[in-house]
Amino acid sequence: MTEDSGRGERDLERAAAALAGRVPPALAPLAKLAFDYRWSWWPGGPETFRAVDPHRWDLCSGNPVRLLQESSDAMLARAADDSALIARAVSMADAIAAERARPFAPGAFAPDRPVAFLCAEYGVHGSLPIYAGGLGVLAGDLLKEASDRALPLVAVGLLYRHGSFHQRLDPSGWQHEYWVETDAERLPAARVTDEEGEPLQISVPICGRAVAAQIWRIDVGRVPLFLLDSDVPDNTRVDRWITSRLYVGDRETRLAQYALLGIGGIRALRALGIDPGVVHLNEGHAALAPLELAREQRAAGVPFAAALDDARARTVFTTHTPVAAGNDRYEPGLALSVLGGFAGELQLTPDEFLALGRVRRDDPHESFGITVLGLHASRAANGVSRRHGEVAREMWASLWPDRPVEAVPIAHVTNGVHIPTWMAPAMRDLLDRRLGSDWNSRAADASTWDAVDEIPDAELWAVRQALRRELVGWVQEQSIDDRLARGAVPREYAEAAARGFAPDTLTIGFARRIATYKRLYLLFRDPQRALPLLDGATPLQLVIAGKAHPEDDDAKRLVQQLFPAAMAQQVASRVAYLEDYDHAMAARLVAGCDVWVNLPRPPLEASGTSGMKAALNGCLHLSVLDGWWQEAFDGRNGWGIGVESAGNPAPDAEAQDARDASTLYSLLEREIVPAFYERDEAGVSRAWVQRIKHSLRSIGPRFNASRMLRDYSEMVYRAR
Ligand SMILES: *Cc1c(COP(=O)(O)O)cnc(C)c1O
Repeated sequence: MTEDSGRGERDLERAAAALAGRVPPALAPLAKLAFDYRWSWWPGGPETFRAVDPHRWDLCSGNPVRLLQESSDAMLARAADDSALIARAVSMADAIAAERARPFAPGAFAPDRPVAFLCAEYGVHGSLPIYAGGLGVLAGDLLKEASDRALPLVAVGLLYRHGSFHQRLDPSGWQHEYWVETDAERLPAARVTDEEGEPLQISVPICGRAVAAQIWRIDVGRVPLFLLDSDVPDNTRVDRWITSRLYVGDRETRLAQYALLGIGGIRALRALGIDPGVVHLNEGHAALAPLELAREQRAAGVPFAAALDDARARTVFTTHTPVAAGNDRYEPGLALSVLGGFAGELQLTPDEFLALGRVRRDDPHESFGITVLGLHASRAANGVSRRHGEVAREMWASLWPDRPVEAVPIAHVTNGVHIPTWMAPAMRDLLDRRLGSDWNSRAADASTWDAVDEIPDAELWAVRQALRRELVGWVQEQSIDDRLARGAVPREYAEAAARGFAPDTLTIGFARRIATYKRLYLLFRDPQRALPLLDGATPLQLVIAGKAHPEDDDAKRLVQQLFPAAMAQQVASRVAYLEDYDHAMAARLVAGCDVWVNLPRPPLEASGTSGMKAALNGCLHLSVLDGWWQEAFDGRNGWGIGVESAGNPAPDAEAQDARDASTLYSLLEREIVPAFYERDEAGVSRAWVQRIKHSLRSIGPRFNASRMLRDYSEMVYRAR
């Protein structure tokens, strides 16, 4: 028995062995690979699974467990006979096993005191639908990077039966949502069992009841992700619902989720025999975790103040929300009805407990805020970009009334993206050739990227052409399917984008969660200027994607009213709104677009990360100076909107919209379109390629997850 066997490792091995037993023996290495998401960022990993049964692979969203469970005997037999495929699987399995066996990186953290990362959502891969957007995808990227860097880190979250929702637009453009139930038995997951082989369970006092949860383990490379699940027979129907839906609308259930994540997260680690060196609360949802650490001390007779100090010394907190309304607050009555039992375990009176989530400690009317609790109960706090650090210090200055705003103890660690996940194979191959095959292990060093300048322009341009062509081919097919599925559309409309999109046309991407502040509507704010850009000898084509939150009717209206009716014709053939934006679609779009657009109303974009993914692929960023772009834009590595106001908010929103839309059109008309279509004798757009090179060199080393994790390790996790 290995040291980890009681932490679900044995259970994962058993699940892999059971799957291996159901497929031809030659495919056994694939069954083992299926239970560790490491394949998903191994070069050639996805292609290897896909080769087993390409159609089935797409149907099951790239879930390798389902692929091997559901492929027909004939397809499995065919794959087992494919000696090249088997050889690839064997060498990948060997290499991944060797990587897992590597010792942990030396550093501040002993492997037996790992960082415990707690988050309400994880965007690891399209086949694991337990994320809603940027927060989850960032968390997924951080786990992968920790695996690559051999950092001792474990992650805790919730397993939602209805996690990510699917989006459909109807013929009027209105968004409808549907959920597909996630069957945990078909995920690359295993239920963690104890010595007797019984499911390991923990219990948390919620709403006056002891709510039980089982624990699933999913491996993200070397990093185990433990997911709590309240759907167990011991619980009432209501309590089984707690982990049913990600960001459920009902506030009581939402707070119950936070209790399960924070309190239950620590209890799960204890049940697994893990003693975290640092607890990292990634956003306020997990903010009850340090109180559970304090409760442990309370149970041992330590006074509350000392217990909280001790918990605080082990906790760090990252805030991601620059809007006051985005930070959940609960009326005192509701907070106590959900958490009163836990307050009792802490041996606190209701008022003492509520004070932990209040800015004005002894105001009995103030609600209970989870961000306030997170800030109060952690020794270090940070925002997720330089700009967001400033915004967060202003937002929470009232918690430190004695300090000037610059001295509010909230720092920043700017987000970064996981390069192997987001860089398309063609781009990665190019950099492997030109920067040296081990360049990714040095990705956070600026000098690693110097050799980008030596890449022949034509070679880089050829990669860009190939990536765009791949995307355009996919958009052509996808747009027909999407439009037909809306029902009641003329065939001509259904095929319009497939006919109008061209592989050599300048391709602009806008894809993100559709919230009002992201200002999708700026794209078509002035039809007189927008229309000519879609037409003529040097046109552009536009790919749009994004989901509105199911309860955000304003955002749904934005999608519905995106195009003025007068534009219908041109828009249908040069603009595609692709439905159901997710992790997999994001990867396609950031790779194939030429320009990535972001139009938030400053200062509401905490960071943004999709533009970083785009930049890694040689797609140029065109954005309002907000979030990460305010610290990244240098005048030559893309284009900035709001340069004159330095990204500061304008009091008159309407005037700001008009000004920013006008800048957007001017940049497209005067700089972007002409630069893209200007070619030399060889057909290469030289000025464009120069800009891409500069973008890679300036953005590549700074906005990746390696740099981010180094910052967390050195500046946040390490106790000062
Ligand atoms: C990267 C990513 C996001 C976050 O991107 P933003 O720039 O913050 O909009 C959201 N959703 C998915 C699926 C992503 O891959």
